[in-house]
Amino acid sequence: MDFDALFQRQLDDLKAEGNYRVFAEMERTCGTHPKAVNHGPGGARDVTVWCSNDYLGMGQHPKVVEAMVEAARSCGTGAGGTRNISGTNSHHIALEKELADLHGKEAALLFTSGYVSNWAALGTLGSRLPGAVILSDALNHASMIEGIRHSRAQKVIWKHNDPEDLDRKLAALPADAPKIVAFESVYSMDGDIAPIREICDVADKYGAMTYIDEVHAVGMYGPRGGGVAEQEGLMDRITLIEGTLGKAFGCFGGYITGSAALCDFIRSFSSGFIFTTALPPAVAAAAKVSIAHLKTSDAERRKQREQVEKLRARLDAYGIPHLDNPSHIVPVMIKDPVKCRMISDILMRDFGVYVQPINYPTVPKGTERLRFTPGPLHTDADIDHMCRALNSLWQQCALARQVA
Ligand SMILES: *Cc1c(COP(=O)(O)O)cnc(C)c1O
Repeated sequence: MDFDALFQRQLDDLKAEGNYRVFAEMERTCGTHPKAVNHGPGGARDVTVWCSNDYLGMGQHPKVVEAMVEAARSCGTGAGGTRNISGTNSHHIALEKELADLHGKEAALLFTSGYVSNWAALGTLGSRLPGAVILSDALNHASMIEGIRHSRAQKVIWKHNDPEDLDRKLAALPADAPKIVAFESVYSMDGDIAPIREICDVADKYGAMTYIDEVHAVGMYGPRGGGVAEQEGLMDRITLIEGTLGKAFGCFGGYITGSAALCDFIRSFSSGFIFTTALPPAVAAAAKVSIAHLKTSDAERRKQREQVEKLRARLDAYGIPHLDNPSHIVPVMIKDPVKCRMISDILMRDFGVYVQPINYPTVPKGTERLRFTPGPLHTDADIDHMCRALNSLWQQCALARQVA
């Protein structure tokens, strides 16, 4: 059998649709974020990155880098085992304490990524609680969807950010079934934010546990960077808070926080926690310093918000349509996969602006977009240059404008 031909046929289909993914090869240089070097067909060139999830530039913060280097020097590179078999290092314990404190919970548990933490926690809850039903927001991240599927628990999808629909769906379930309401705070593609309080009210009414993914919010919202639930004073109403160390904290890894019993339960029964090598101690050390810094420093968050507002105002001035939302994510809608890729290519090639096109299946077909994530280190001149570039492309491609 010619397997490569089978592979190629599907790849060709993907290319014909305009949904084939091409990675931009980036060389990040410490201390220059959001500038980086792009290695493209025409050689190396300096570009400004506009789509990084290192939202606050913490991945290049001198204290964070120093913590990683220092821990690597003192502990070496790898953890040397799973958490159970020689892999638990003091840096893991310290980081779990830091995370539990960040979210006001009794305990925390580290995973090798945010994806794995969702997959493993939902997979374990759904499969280990007899008769469990997981109520999942319609726009939940792939990692939650896969975890729920893997659990084989009954799954009920409720309308995105709609507590009334959630209420109806909960009311239809048997009173004695353990129910888990799973949702996100900041949805990363539209940048909208869940009505957490209303969702908790509905969940409480039916005795359901609440599971929130704050991956795009940790470090970014709340007086100590505890996420939207912290900002709204709702952390104690959430049973399980999940987050990543890979986005605003600028490192790598994922985690859950909750009661001591909950974390012990996942620790004891979750395959995705048990059978994998622990995070490198140096990564844990760096993440801890990043979290601790953002607990006390609000400067990064404040500056970031300013730059987001400036970018939105400039786009409005040019009549370039972008999704209105209360978060730090600025989606500019192109609504066509081929045009979306073309604009992104030209921005990189002619203007040194890097923004990755977001196509299906990350977003529904027909909602293709450029997703901008302005940070505290984007200068006013960067914003100006990028908006001018976008404006001239809007003219060239005869794209629709929004009249104010
Ligand atoms: C990125 C992301 C994850 C996964 O986190 P990683 O640490 O990158 O694996 C989980 N949930 C959401 C909503 C995400 O956007």
